[in-house]
Amino acid sequence: MVGHAYSYKCSHCGYEEYYKQGHGYLVRPQHYDEYIASNQKFFHYEIHNKIETLAKDHPDLEIDATFRVFKCPKCQLLHGKVQVNLTEGDVLLHTSRFKCMKCRSRLKLTNIHRLKRATCPACGKNSFRRQNLATLL
Ligand SMILES: [Zn+2]
Ligand SMILES: [Zn+2]
Repeated sequence: MVGHAYSYKCSHCGYEEYYKQGHGYLVRPQHYDEYIASNQKFFHYEIHNKIETLAKDHPDLEIDATFRVFKCPKCQLLHGKVQVNLTEGDVLLHTSRFKCMKCRSRLKLTNIHRLKRATCPACGKNSFRRQNLATLL
């Protein structure tokens, strides 16, 4: 259950934001029974409904939630999201897909370890740079 936070700061306007990657306290792999028992209202309602629907046919449903960073291929903006994979055994039944809030493009998963620079969400300049690695969640 270890995650990292990455800090990005714009060298132009000073805007700063954190992005998380990995697992956290509630964002982690768990069995359906555990999910229901804990009565979490953590996920988006669409994902919650999907979980409920799939669990009817897949009693061994596993919910794997992870913080991930996505990038819009069009505007190069970063988006921190909780990606949820719903699996049973080795079968992937559902995975979250996200769209850019600005241009509605399908977001692409990005490797934040390699991403040194992106577009600043505040000023739109390509000067949003990764700071040194931050502490654990
Ligand atoms: Zn976009
Ligand atoms: Zn900026």
